[in-house]
Amino acid sequence: MRLPSYAYFEGKITPIDEAKISVMTHALHFGTGAFAGIRAYWNEDEDQLYLFRPLDHFERFLNSAKLLCMEIDHTAESLLGITKNLLRTECWRENVYIRPLVYAANTLLGGPRLYGLRAEVTIFSMPLANYVPDEEGTHVTVSSWTRIDDNTIPARGKVTGGYVNSALAKNDALRAGFDEALLLNRHGHISEGAGENFFMVRDGLVVTPPTTDSILEGITRRTVIELIRRELGLEVVERSVDRSEVYLAEEAFLTGTAVQVAAITRVDHRTIGTGKMGPVVSRLRELFFLAAQGRIETYRSWVIPVYEHALDGYENPA
Ligand code: PMP
Repeated sequence: MRLPSYAYFEGKITPIDEAKISVMTHALHFGTGAFAGIRAYWNEDEDQLYLFRPLDHFERFLNSAKLLCMEIDHTAESLLGITKNLLRTECWRENVYIRPLVYAANTLLGGPRLYGLRAEVTIFSMPLANYVPDEEGTHVTVSSWTRIDDNTIPARGKVTGGYVNSALAKNDALRAGFDEALLLNRHGHISEGAGENFFMVRDGLVVTPPTTDSILEGITRRTVIELIRRELGLEVVERSVDRSEVYLAEEAFLTGTAVQVAAITRVDHRTIGTGKMGPVVSRLRELFFLAAQGRIETYRSWVIPVYEHALDGYENPA
């Protein structure tokens, strides 16, 4: 796997070895940062790299920064421009993952606070292998760790410090032999996976926890909801989900930029449905991968090409 060679750092694209921060950096000590995770899909037939819903990711990134009272001199569009330049500089011709990060860059610590901090944006990209075993289905466990609450660290923001919660849950899950953890919120309802949103199929209905149940408002979640309604013709209900409902689900799956769409086939040693990837998940995965590579006309607005040769021969109608 090729490692990244460049990063956007302190206002320009630099060799990645020069993108370094001080040990005194505020964000390193207090978790005062926010990030995004975006995928770009390589489309071999078109010789093109497509960013998947980058503007939606950057809007959420700016909102996460807003929750941390960070003022950034960027718009979603300007961040997209930087990302395209970075990816072109790297010349990627494979599927890559893009990691924008905004962090409190002050080096005179001054204690945990948010006002008066200097926010810096950095972005780098790298190839990404599969995140969980997604062909054979994942075995998840309900974690003993409670999901961070809106009044502790808002899960709706992708805040660096909040990911200690995910790390605690995922760590215990992996060490106990599971692939991933599902976290309950403080009311005992399913919130989400350590790094993914959760869906299940019960009585032919697709159900997912609402955005008020301590979840990250996932871009893949939004994508999948639209695909299920429009392409599969099924109803999607956003409502609180009990732990024991998951054990009895016909199908269950995780969605997220890293995991994409992955079937859950076992939960806490109980088989979900037949124990194999079900029809809703398999159809959804097909649709999702086609859409993400810009191969479905209806969803072309979700993808943005990185390389300009896509415009070769294009004549401006004006
Ligand atoms: N929940 C959490 C906790 C996550 O870290 C992620 C990954 N960003 C998601 C859900 C899925 O969000 P998205 O589909 O926007 O990647």
